[in-house]
Amino acid sequence: MQIHLINPSDISFGAAVITPRWLYVLAAATPRHYGDPHIVDETLEQIDFDAIQPGDVVGVGIHTLNCLRGYEVGRAAKARGAHVIYGGIHTTLYPDEVFEHGAATAIVKGDGDRMWPVAIADVLAGKSKGVYEGGRIEGVDMIPARWDLLPRDRYMFASVQTVRGCPKHCSFCSVWRTDGQKPRVRPSDALIEEIVELRRMGFRFITLADDNFYPVTLSDLRMADRRADKTAYNRLKAIRDERFELMAQMAKLPPDMVFFTQITMEAAEDPEYLDAMRKARIKGALVGIESVTPEGLKDVYKDFNLAGDALAERLQQFQKNGVHVLGSFIFGLPSDKPATFDATAALAQQANVTLAQFVMLTPFPGTLDFQKWEASVGADVEHVDGIPVTRHWLIPKNRRPKVYAPHPLMSPDEIRSRTQGVWDNFYQLSLVWQRAQCVKSMKSKLAFVLISKLYRQMYANTGISTDSARHNKANRMARMLAKPLVKLFSASPMPQLQVPA
Ligand code: SF4
Repeated sequence: MQIHLINPSDISFGAAVITPRWLYVLAAATPRHYGDPHIVDETLEQIDFDAIQPGDVVGVGIHTLNCLRGYEVGRAAKARGAHVIYGGIHTTLYPDEVFEHGAATAIVKGDGDRMWPVAIADVLAGKSKGVYEGGRIEGVDMIPARWDLLPRDRYMFASVQTVRGCPKHCSFCSVWRTDGQKPRVRPSDALIEEIVELRRMGFRFITLADDNFYPVTLSDLRMADRRADKTAYNRLKAIRDERFELMAQMAKLPPDMVFFTQITMEAAEDPEYLDAMRKARIKGALVGIESVTPEGLKDVYKDFNLAGDALAERLQQFQKNGVHVLGSFIFGLPSDKPATFDATAALAQQANVTLAQFVMLTPFPGTLDFQKWEASVGADVEHVDGIPVTRHWLIPKNRRPKVYAPHPLMSPDEIRSRTQGVWDNFYQLSLVWQRAQCVKSMKSKLAFVLISKLYRQMYANTGISTDSARHNKANRMARMLAKPLVKLFSASPMPQLQVPA
């Protein structure tokens, strides 16, 4: 009997940017007496179904964008006599659908770290309960990944997770609803051990795959401090202290290490935090800017962000502390107008963001926006091949319409072409080269240009384009760039590296 863990994908690139951490966490959660799991990341290459034998257990992790391929993999595995267990965000959101379309033997909702071995044991004993509630485990219970099973030469960046959950409630995001609003912080000692293991293997670029690396703001602390009961204040303070402890330990790691994360803009008003990030060599952060207007921020319940010149200034604070910003912007918000596109492009330049992504407002399952959109289309919903577009992820890819939130002024095509225009403008070679001056050596400048181009190909053309020729070209280009980039980002292994005292 063999355990298999599959990350489904329709497209394989031979190499990938970030290690799919969940595969290696569940590998670690697999009891050793079953042997090492067979891990397949289909973003690298497609699964060979001949490897699956009757009686095997196949774990499939799905999110909305890859669930259809996940169901195909699950059905094929079941047809070969295997037991199929699903997990992932989409499973948590649509458990019934997974049984109906994916031939599931069982599913694990929520965090799989503790419940995965229970589900395997029950399924193998013929006593599956069907649904297993993994819940939201505390940081102290999160387990380190089995990086010893990772093919080193296929990924550019390794990943660790330092905190799960986000206290905000942005309308387009499902994180706060699936991972919860209470930040669950993993103890720094365990994190450092894992990071050291990755550096020993030759990873010097590491993504901190967090929901929000700044889970407690200064104003959260001030508000809690005003209360007579100090319980909330003490809890928040403990989280903040743990963050500083982690960054202090990171600062002691080999000087060639570089970290990236995801953070809210409020961190820029916290000089002590930014300073600790600089010392910890957190050199890049995805910042959800979303909109450059106050009305747009209100649309997505993100009015804790700033707009206009104040926004540009705040983003520059990150840069001043050596943290390059990957700015994320959303187009198609109800208050957007045609002029918003140019204003956004200009702000991205003014704020000097290093990389940027421009996405169209899409009602993703699990979000407030989706709930609102689903209710608004009601029973008259359009169907494709008998499937309502409110379940568009079940429609075969070549027939699947792109679903965007309806806009009062602009058609989806207008928003799409204007969005594409902003991508084209931001990633024109002369501007990319200008931005590449943020790194020193020629090798780093070259890496910067390549990563900018790869990012643009992977996300702009494959994400928002409806033109299949553009898709195919983008996929070919991404495939071509992926392998050389893995080489460019790898470092010599440091097998003797010790965990800092
Ligand atoms: S978008 Fe970011 S800040 Fe908003 S809820 Fe999601 S993770 Fe939190």
